[in-house]
Amino acid sequence: MAWIKSYKSPNYGPRISEDGNEPKINMLVLHYTGMSSHSLSLEHLCNPLSKVSAHFLLDEKGNTYQLVATKNRAWHAGISSWRGIKDINSHSIGIELSNPGHDFGYRNFPDPQIDALIRLSKELINTHPIPPRNIIGHSDVAPGRKIDPGELFPWEQFASEKIGIWPKPHSIKSKTYKDVIISKMLSSYGYDTENNSLKDVISAFQRHFRPKCFDGIADDETISILSRLLKSVAEN
Ligand SMILES: [Zn+2]
Repeated sequence: MAWIKSYKSPNYGPRISEDGNEPKINMLVLHYTGMSSHSLSLEHLCNPLSKVSAHFLLDEKGNTYQLVATKNRAWHAGISSWRGIKDINSHSIGIELSNPGHDFGYRNFPDPQIDALIRLSKELINTHPIPPRNIIGHSDVAPGRKIDPGELFPWEQFASEKIGIWPKPHSIKSKTYKDVIISKMLSSYGYDTENNSLKDVISAFQRHFRPKCFDGIADDETISILSRLLKSVAEN
């Protein structure tokens, strides 16, 4: 990928499998850096003392830096879980987007950055078996602990480029579900409802799929979106 600038981060190891076979790379995890500047983020992700990295880092102008080879296990997800997989780092490609984040002035991801991310994601989806449902945010795999890339990330636009998944338009039907059912539904989509509070998981779900309000309350619209999503993944 000729447009990519190469930078070396020492913060990686070999991908680890559960069964001795080479682990499948079948997830794409998106992050924001949450730091005040791009150069600080680049320094941090390449500093051996930080012990964190990602495979790619995209600045707000759309420049793409590769920090770790995709065959290696970059250290980006931490304690996390998706669809029963706990070692997300061994199964995923991690992409960091420069953005100050909620601590330093969270702002829209500029078009050049998103365009570059679409280009990179398409390339990665073409070369690895990554299903739409496994294109997720850090907050999806670590509810309650992480909130990036956050509610301003354009998931809907991404899905229109066939990257990730977005529920079809829906009519809101009023139906009351018990917490235990909502928890089961979220878990069958991929969220870890065992090790996180239900409120944190609902909030993570909303931040991704209903970003206008992510208060962690399973209102009718949230349940309707969740039902739609489950239906669409069952159909595919
Ligand atoms: Zn993150």
